[in-house]
Amino acid sequence: MVVQTMWKSRLSFSDLPNTVKRIGQLKKLGCGVLRFAVPDLAAAEVLGKLSEEVSMPLVADIHFDYKIALRCLDFPIAKIRLNPGNITGKEKVEAVLSKAAAACRPIRIGVNGGSLPQDLRRRCEEGTLEVADALVQAAEREMAIFDEFGFTDYLVSMKASSVADTIKANRLLSGKSDVPLHVGVTEAGPLIAGIVRNAAALLALLKDGIGDTIRVSLSDTMENEIIAGREILHAAASITGEEGQGRLKPRGVTIVSCPLCGRSNFDTRAFIERWQERLYASEKNITVAIMGCAVNGPGEARHADLGITGAGNKVLVFRKGEVVRTIDIAEADAVFSEELEKA
Ligand code: SF4
Repeated sequence: MVVQTMWKSRLSFSDLPNTVKRIGQLKKLGCGVLRFAVPDLAAAEVLGKLSEEVSMPLVADIHFDYKIALRCLDFPIAKIRLNPGNITGKEKVEAVLSKAAAACRPIRIGVNGGSLPQDLRRRCEEGTLEVADALVQAAEREMAIFDEFGFTDYLVSMKASSVADTIKANRLLSGKSDVPLHVGVTEAGPLIAGIVRNAAALLALLKDGIGDTIRVSLSDTMENEIIAGREILHAAASITGEEGQGRLKPRGVTIVSCPLCGRSNFDTRAFIERWQERLYASEKNITVAIMGCAVNGPGEARHADLGITGAGNKVLVFRKGEVVRTIDIAEADAVFSEELEKA
């Protein structure tokens, strides 16, 4: 099960060194596939260069102009995403299929509720077709072209901004076909709303075994999309009983933290903000507790492999409920870092 995200700015040669560096950070966080919008041939050249410099599988996201897809296939990119709603013309699609087959590159048929083929969109607006059915029909039309051409290395995504439509469309298609599915809610909203909507849709699908790759689309950072995706997989694994095994197996650090209350004397929120990405980038399979007070801190989080909590004007670092260091607040980050190394 792969978590993916999408690059959030325009590709440019001048920004290539920073792009390479940030891709390395995304990989450490658990990003398995990274998609780029490729709106023109100039962007295709940048993506091509980038694909030669990083090990992360890169996906070229193509709308409107099939010639951009053809150019991207000259480079070692991992996959093409085509939107059947705006690349029309069987001969154009077949030109891409022919080149992708020769290059052994898979294609994602990426159907989006906001850019359905015209006739399906009109029927949805008239109320004679449900959005979920329209998503499936759009995917099936494109799949028929691929199948007729003999191109089998493809997957499908059907995304809507509605949780219900996303769930229904994916259930419908997975009931009729074993084509791999990339799942997620599109235009899902800002951080909190987006995570809730994606979690609702993805947990419903993942618990039924539907979905092979996921993306949590957010009006927020790529890092938060990856972290949210990992946490949704973690929650799905606990629902399905796949914790510690199987395709939903969680990796890395599990953070537990208290919500704070009037007893708190440690700013867990600020500590988490400073440490969240470093903890998610860690390879260690441990539970870390970040707690607000000594009254309930080490006790409530005694299952944690490593924990930190306030205690009056001091900070306690504990392992499995046993206090191992008592320090000043100013030393908290440095000591926590040392103890994390040993964990
Ligand atoms: Fe309140 Fe302490 Fe519990 Fe945090 S750990 S919620 S500060 S009692």
